[in-house]
Amino acid sequence: MSGIEESLDQLGRDWDIDPVLRGFMLGRVTDVSDRQVRVGRVVFHIPYLRGHDRHVLWGCRWPDCDNCCKKQGRLPLTSSDMITIGSGLKYKSRSEFLRSEALVATHAEPGPGSGSVVMTTVNLKRMEGETEADDGTRVPCRFLGSDGACTLHPGRPGVCYMYPFSAWIESEGGMARVHASYQFDGCCPGFYLDRGTDPMRDVLAEYSGIIHGYVMEAERTAREGLSSVSIA
Ligand code: SF4
Ligand code: SF4
Repeated sequence: MSGIEESLDQLGRDWDIDPVLRGFMLGRVTDVSDRQVRVGRVVFHIPYLRGHDRHVLWGCRWPDCDNCCKKQGRLPLTSSDMITIGSGLKYKSRSEFLRSEALVATHAEPGPGSGSVVMTTVNLKRMEGETEADDGTRVPCRFLGSDGACTLHPGRPGVCYMYPFSAWIESEGGMARVHASYQFDGCCPGFYLDRGTDPMRDVLAEYSGIIHGYVMEAERTAREGLSSVSIA
């Protein structure tokens, strides 16, 4: 059984997961096209299930859900996260904060063709005593309060604001354009199906700013030498 299938089975104990949506997330619905919706400075890629005449939409279920914080896999920090979180935790300097609360980890993700994208990032430790060997394993985040709220909020890592989106930059007429799509890891019950994309209009407007801001911060972090990406 795949990791996503296992996660969906666990999710299904607490939430009703549409069987069509579940099949799609497991790669069993293949009649899918990519609907591109441009909102502000971001192009969103929304899957359209042609055979079912439905789009895959999303809205966060918090405070009824805090699953992404209970199953946190990795918290890469931007340089501004390091300043915000470090000062929120009362560290006097960034280096002191990084020594105590963060670690450097390298991981690979599928890349173009048969290659992979190798990323090295400074990550906020999600649990006491975390080491690089724990990177990518899903654990309850130590900053999750008993009320289901993040104790770092509003200064939580930018990557937490992004979830469940992932983003990248493409060149458009010589200009950099930010694109975003969903991550389907089986942990989020916020996905649903609808004929159109209108029900998600407000969410897309809100996330357009969040995603664009995060991508710019991530770029700045790389320019400052605090993260790196290479194709292997
Ligand atoms: S798992 Fe999804 S629905 Fe739940 S809090 Fe996170 S983003 Fe919201
Ligand atoms: S830092 Fe906060 S928002 Fe991010 S995973 Fe931890 S508890 Fe959740």
